[in-house]
Amino acid sequence: MSDRLPTGATIGILGGGQLGRMLSVAAARLGYKCCILDPSDDPPAAHVANFHLKAAYDDVDALTRFARSVDVVTYEFENIPTDALDTIERHCPIRPGREALRVSQDRLTEKTWLADLGLSPAPFADVADRAALDAALAELGTPAILKTRRFGYDGKGQVRIDDVSEADAAWDAISGAPAVLEGFVAFEREISVIAARGLDGSIACYDPGENEHVDGILRKTTVPAAVSHSVATDAVLLAGRILNALEYVGVMGIELFVTKDGLLVNEIAPRVHNSGHWTQDGAPVDQFEQHIRAIAGLPLGDGSRSGDITMENLIGDDVDGIDAILRDPSASLHLYGKGAARPGRKMGHVNRRR
Ligand code: AMP
Repeated sequence: MSDRLPTGATIGILGGGQLGRMLSVAAARLGYKCCILDPSDDPPAAHVANFHLKAAYDDVDALTRFARSVDVVTYEFENIPTDALDTIERHCPIRPGREALRVSQDRLTEKTWLADLGLSPAPFADVADRAALDAALAELGTPAILKTRRFGYDGKGQVRIDDVSEADAAWDAISGAPAVLEGFVAFEREISVIAARGLDGSIACYDPGENEHVDGILRKTTVPAAVSHSVATDAVLLAGRILNALEYVGVMGIELFVTKDGLLVNEIAPRVHNSGHWTQDGAPVDQFEQHIRAIAGLPLGDGSRSGDITMENLIGDDVDGIDAILRDPSASLHLYGKGAARPGRKMGHVNRRR
């Protein structure tokens, strides 16, 4: 029997932010319905999806109803409680699968897993308690970055340590949560690969993009990244190894540091990724459609880059500048339908053809 999702089937999405919203639009274009599970009143994805189930991620009754009413479940964030996944999996498949979540939910597990695969994460040490932080600082030196093992995103849950005298303050800043210490990587640039693997094991990668972060939040992605063909090829091959090892189904974002000694893997995100938004205006099949194709058992699409593009996030009151973007023939505007433009809040993005 084919695993291909028939037209009119319903895809369940955990999380109703902008990623869920853009996934829902892509799913609709391919003839699928979407049901969003999200605890908030008016999540951006609910504006475009067919159904919104307002419930907490630990509400077993709601999760059971959700899983029974959809044909496959996917997600827009990786910190989904294990119990919720257990509940869902009793009724329908979760794609990408559990292994990708297990590995990426915990920085220590992730780094150890990457190293076991023969890849290079940033130098790291386990920091289980305050004494372990001293030992880790002695081992890795400064500067270093202390990161909580779980629940970190957009630079949250991490603190830079420039001198060992800052160890107490750093430990307090993360409230003594289980953590890893990372040696500071003097990278030449940051790039990411958006990679997809289909239900049949086929793989398609987009050209690596070059990322600029400010305060831990992605500001800008430029494609192509200013790296040699060899580095771009290494990045794509490394992405393929990660996807195969996880028997992954869906789109993944893989963040890499380019150093003079080669590529280090910073982070893997088992979902569509902010640094892949350029694909909406730079490839025949964008990352959102590619993800839906993968989890629906359809053939992967053509992700070849059609030109040079820059993606800029519109964060907080950046959205006040949309009139100029709307007048610019080389710019494509994507807004998320969010209400208040709070500082640090991702309100939309713009893709500019160069
Ligand atoms: P993360 O949330 O771990 O992806 O970190 C957010 C950003 O902080 C990265 O994209 C880098 O710009 C910076 N960063 C994180 N870890 C390191 C590191 N070990 N060395 C240098 N910069 C880092």
